[in-house]
Amino acid sequence: MKIYLNGKLVPERSARISVFDHGLLYGDGVFEGIRSYKGRVFMLDEHINRLYDSAKAIALDIPLSKAGISRAVVRTCKANRCMDGYIRLVVTRGVGTLGLNPYLCAKPQIIIIAAKIQLYPKTLYNEGLKIVTAGTVRNHPEAINPRIKSLNYLNNILAKIEAINAGCMEALMLNPNGFVAEATGDNVFALHGNVLSTPPACAGALEGITRAVVMDIARDQAMEVRERMLNRHDLYTADEVFLTGTAAEVIGVVEIDRRPIGDGKPGKATRRFERAFRKYAGSTGTPIE
Ligand code: PMP
Repeated sequence: MKIYLNGKLVPERSARISVFDHGLLYGDGVFEGIRSYKGRVFMLDEHINRLYDSAKAIALDIPLSKAGISRAVVRTCKANRCMDGYIRLVVTRGVGTLGLNPYLCAKPQIIIIAAKIQLYPKTLYNEGLKIVTAGTVRNHPEAINPRIKSLNYLNNILAKIEAINAGCMEALMLNPNGFVAEATGDNVFALHGNVLSTPPACAGALEGITRAVVMDIARDQAMEVRERMLNRHDLYTADEVFLTGTAAEVIGVVEIDRRPIGDGKPGKATRRFERAFRKYAGSTGTPIE
């Protein structure tokens, strides 16, 4: 595998980062997870815009233009023949001292990995996910704002540990006020009749790229789409609940905290979103060749 590292494509074994990089020492940096489908990079501009917003929020100047990053992503996919894969785009603060001061770091490091995608097994889409509510709450927006896709994912990892320890693959995270924020690596939606709801960013959700596509699909299907505060009651009583994310795409949730959602199977609308999303993903994007 060839890794993009600061403008060069290098073999995997020589793609190395300093132990003094603040990305490693402090989780100081930002990233994106992107998909390629059928030889095209999906929603590349949207991912790059979000990366720049995350970087801006942590006062990190990315030493490359948006167009330059786009070209680098495409180039890395091409070099690795990553036609249906997963791309990890990382910008670290760079090499610094052992102190926190980011202004003492030399230069942000840009890393791009174009790899195979680790998908949830197909049976999980047919059967749906069982999730639990984590005791770990989502970061307060005035702490590390969850809108920032930073390299510091410990908050999500702590919730993921709770999920795994409970025998689940995902956990629902609430914000410090008890409202639903999102899952550890996915956004959450609830369907009541014809109304599709998802927490707003201010509830502690990342503005997911998949989330935005699904909201558009729902509007096209004449559903009412609302970004609103939800609590667990709203999920427990929903007809359908599903998660969205770059890796997971759209996946039904059939149980939360051992309570069945709807009739305990992935709902009809969820399955429809799943298909419509895949169709859309396979029909658009930035060409790799
Ligand atoms: N929330 C979190 C915390 C995430 O890390 C992600 C990305 N995996 C998402 C939501 C989904 O966002 P996207 O659809 O852009 O992948």
